[in-house]
Amino acid sequence: MGAHAFSGRRDVPLPANEPVLTYAPGSDERRRIGRALDALAEERIEIPLVIGGRRVRSGRTRPVVMPCDHRHVLADCHMATPRHVRDAITAAVEAQREWAAWPWEDRLAVFLKAAELLATTWRDRVNAATMLGQAKTVHQAEIDAACELIDFWRFNCRFAAELYAEQPISSPGVWNQLDHRPLEGFVYAVTPFNFTAIAGNLSSANVIVGGATVWKPASSALLSAWMLMQLYEEAGLPPGLINFVPGDPEAVSDVALSSPDLAGIHFTGSTAVFQSLWRATGANIARYRSYPRVVGETGGKDFIVLHPSADLQAAAVAIVRGGFEYQGQKCSAASRIYVPRSAWPELRDRVLAMTADLRMGDVRDFGNFMGAVIDRNAFARIRGYIAHAKRTARVLAGGGCRDRVGYFVEPTLVQVDDPGHRLMREEVFGPVVAVYVYPDRQWRSMLELVDTTSPYGLTGAVFARDRQAIIEASTALRHAAGNFYINDKPTGAVVGQQPFGGGRASGTNDKAGSKLNLMRWLSPRVIKETFVPPVDYTYPFMKAGEPPSGD
Ligand code: NAD
Repeated sequence: MGAHAFSGRRDVPLPANEPVLTYAPGSDERRRIGRALDALAEERIEIPLVIGGRRVRSGRTRPVVMPCDHRHVLADCHMATPRHVRDAITAAVEAQREWAAWPWEDRLAVFLKAAELLATTWRDRVNAATMLGQAKTVHQAEIDAACELIDFWRFNCRFAAELYAEQPISSPGVWNQLDHRPLEGFVYAVTPFNFTAIAGNLSSANVIVGGATVWKPASSALLSAWMLMQLYEEAGLPPGLINFVPGDPEAVSDVALSSPDLAGIHFTGSTAVFQSLWRATGANIARYRSYPRVVGETGGKDFIVLHPSADLQAAAVAIVRGGFEYQGQKCSAASRIYVPRSAWPELRDRVLAMTADLRMGDVRDFGNFMGAVIDRNAFARIRGYIAHAKRTARVLAGGGCRDRVGYFVEPTLVQVDDPGHRLMREEVFGPVVAVYVYPDRQWRSMLELVDTTSPYGLTGAVFARDRQAIIEASTALRHAAGNFYINDKPTGAVVGQQPFGGGRASGTNDKAGSKLNLMRWLSPRVIKETFVPPVDYTYPFMKAGEPPSGD
């Protein structure tokens, strides 16, 4: 590295959240996304591994299909072997040495440029890949793949600059400095299918602050992941800092987690997988050069609690949007609802009327509110839950599943009599909402039930006009949700506004897209410099003289 031309502290522009485009009829963006969808659907792309900046073809490929039309192959993706993962680790560790020595402003510039590319020239292609590959409607793709990821990059850059500005105090004659070192080694990023933005955030957060990543994307979101890899390259990210190793999750993880250079895990996905990664890390603990930082955001069993004073129309909209948007495949999706008996008939009729109105089908038809669920396994799992509901509860709406063309599951509303029913405890991760009707006078004990029914603690909402009830719910449910909503649906957290994550079985609650998360990827060094060091080892109290008083 040569000397840097700048002197003086530079700052990162204060970001604003990226505006969400509407895609209304006649709009420019609607025409553009239409063209991008057509172009991608006509291609059959070959997706290589990317290791140390080189595109590597393993020869073992896996087809990438459209969930809305599963015979349509969008791409073929090469799968990594253990040797590729080892190469990726070596590349990451080597690339990081130089990257960590770059002026931080230049590192951040790469990601500010990535955000700008995504906001402009890459927006349509990344959105279209998310729509076709992950079955998101245009609105769901726009708020995720475009806006949220742009926000993650811009806000993380700003947060990094703020962190770098934090320095300790110094006493006279001394200068104390904090060297915000990145972790030594590589971070293993394992990303879920359901948010392109999370794939981008998890692969890059530690890189923004000087680290390097070995990235294993979800096998059901490979097209959008490949777009992000290309975007990183265009933004000027040096080779080796983010290595792309799609492959069998267990085989890739075995190699990554047994490397002495493992510095951290950045995971989002299901609770069971996170626990298996943590277990493997524990078993290997003596091998590592440092204690790996383990950051994981996992499942949820997110609630909406209605008080008798709730606005029922607002609550009904929250249930329908919160429960059925993106086919219920959000970790924050509303999936257990607690309704006072006095409000139930009216609320039920409102939810049923809205649900009957929802259209489901191919996401290229913009009249559809819902698309398909992600793949055959998800379809079978959700269908199993619905079959169980039909045997043990009342299915009030939906319940239909068909997979001839795409993996379609109708928005399904189930009323349970037992508040401990499986559908009130387990994450379904599909468009299935369970309702439990409680006697109005049991409001307080019902709050206790909400708190203790499921092991998760991700999101939840209370609907009430009565302020005292809001205080009671917020207090009783303090640990039941890391993101708590008052008179709003429990989905749709915005970077910088509602930093996201939950506790209990839902994760380490390191709040994606916040300073708290970036801090997990730093290992500070404190430097104390003494300008004129002492040259005499004795202290004044040791000098000869009268004895201390009292002797
Ligand atoms: P998943 O756990 O099946 O997969 C997540 C990642 O782990 C994928 O990359 C997958 O290939 C990998 N994986 C799977 N099995 C593995 C194994 N045995 N060893 C190592 N890696 C393995 O989850 P998913 O279906 O992609 O995503 C849905 C889950 O993610 C839901 O539980 C949802 O609640 C959760 N999620 C949580 C958040 C949050 O912020 N809390 C956000 C999005 C999704």
